[in-house]
Amino acid sequence: MRVIFLGPPGAGKGTQARRAAARWGVPWIATGDMLRGAVAAGSPLGRRAKAFVERGELVPDEVVIDLVAERLDRDDARKGFLLDGFPRTLAQAEALERLLAERGVALDRVLDFEVGEEELVRRLAGRRICGRCGACYHVHSSPPQAEGRCDRCEGALVQREDDRPDTVRRRLQVYRAATRPLVEHYRVQGLLEMVPGEGTVEEVFQAVLAAAEGGR
Ligand code: AMP
Repeated sequence: MRVIFLGPPGAGKGTQARRAAARWGVPWIATGDMLRGAVAAGSPLGRRAKAFVERGELVPDEVVIDLVAERLDRDDARKGFLLDGFPRTLAQAEALERLLAERGVALDRVLDFEVGEEELVRRLAGRRICGRCGACYHVHSSPPQAEGRCDRCEGALVQREDDRPDTVRRRLQVYRAATRPLVEHYRVQGLLEMVPGEGTVEEVFQAVLAAAEGGR
């Protein structure tokens, strides 16, 4: 299974990717998580990416493309992968096509998560993540059992810097301008499947499975 999860921030890609990757036995490759990890670690990559991530801007294409190229060369990605948050620009999509062609493989499908903008803003404003394991919660729709503590590892829950209202607005603009054109790009290639993203986690997961595994 070689799949891309496309869609705006807050559409539920990460929540669904965690489950889908486990079911398919492929690595979940989330460039946002990789970049946040690098920023937290203060590595050279993190120092380069920090200001972009904090402002809700895209990190330069060549930086992210190199990161993904390296990740795809790890053994676990040989039998498949789930890309979450990459590609985000046409240049990244074209670079990915080259990387895959060089490795003699091809994408199976691209799933586009559809969620209205009001709902995206609501989700991002209430989103809390575990600072330790990255698990995702929402203050109203999926709160942890103990306030402020992760159910899985008891780590402290925090709001992502870039989930604050001003940065959310910027991220949605960036999505519309730079990333949404990819929907058409993949539709033309016959790879696109739409996933209605506004149901419960379980309903959306069933739609993900139908879109990714269903016949054509
Ligand atoms: P995400 O966790 O996917 O919402 O990504 C968080 C932030 O990481 C984005 O707002 C960007 O600053 C950066 N980022 C993640 N993936 C990419 C990408 N494919 N291209 C450029 N920047 C990215």
